[in-house]
Amino acid sequence: MSAPIVRGLSELRAMVSGWKQSGETVGVVPTMGALHQGHLSLVRAAKDGCDRVIVTIFINPKQFNNPADYDNYPRTEEEDARKLAPFGVDAVYVPDGPTMYPDGFATNVSVGGLTDVLCGAHRPGHFDGVATVVSKLFLQTQADRAYFGEKDFQQLQVVTRLAADLDIPIKVVGCPTIREEDGLAMSSRNLLLSDRARVWAPALNTAMEEMAEGLLAGGDMATLRAKAVAQIERAGFTEVEYLDLRACDTLELLETPSRPARLLAAAWLAGVRLIDNIAVG
Ligand code: AMP
Repeated sequence: MSAPIVRGLSELRAMVSGWKQSGETVGVVPTMGALHQGHLSLVRAAKDGCDRVIVTIFINPKQFNNPADYDNYPRTEEEDARKLAPFGVDAVYVPDGPTMYPDGFATNVSVGGLTDVLCGAHRPGHFDGVATVVSKLFLQTQADRAYFGEKDFQQLQVVTRLAADLDIPIKVVGCPTIREEDGLAMSSRNLLLSDRARVWAPALNTAMEEMAEGLLAGGDMATLRAKAVAQIERAGFTEVEYLDLRACDTLELLETPSRPARLLAAAWLAGVRLIDNIAVG
């Protein structure tokens, strides 16, 4: 039996209010579909932590700063429903555009500070789109817990901040990045890589791991960074957008891993933008 698909907000609200009246806890896993093992690990965590689980699938136009990226984003709803079937999720919420953004929609949720750097600096408007849709999904689902991947580390910090700032009674739970055997972080965008580019893609993670080791051994940031960028570009990437060591909590730029730190990168490979991040220390 496959998970029930819910497209309307009133239907979703009726389901959730029934669960809440019975005292059941509700978990939500927001996604844009094209589900892979990374998404499914969040579903597993939600099933472990909550009585009821809602997976949402909505390709949010507001978070795409590039229309071609939105048009090319993989859409695999039937396959997604099939992949979710074994997990026994209680609802797959698949709202359409007008349900999320009806005529006259005029509100924008914007998180300051954390969004000035990394993907926020390179993708104008992206995190406003994320913050707006995630606020809506939190309020629509009334979930007690929301599961996000560390794969999108900055996004995880942004949604944690917005839930706290807007007093939304939800606990944001971060889950580890799931990788392919060769180290490539799983991503729906990996489907857009040619066979050749797919072979080159793990070089990003390999270079980051080596750079992290160098930093932990007391190596010089500028030297290690230049070496990693050269390594990534030699492997076939056309541009390294950023490769930064940052504090886990504030995303402040660091020269050494003197406090809990992450190495975060975005790089272009054959027209596809890949991101990754790893803990340092
Ligand atoms: P997306 O569909 O790309 O918007 O991702 C939906 C959720 O899945 C986000 O919280 C992502 O951080 C998470 N996610 C995506 N890829 C991975 C991965 N490889 N490992 C863990 N979580 C992931």
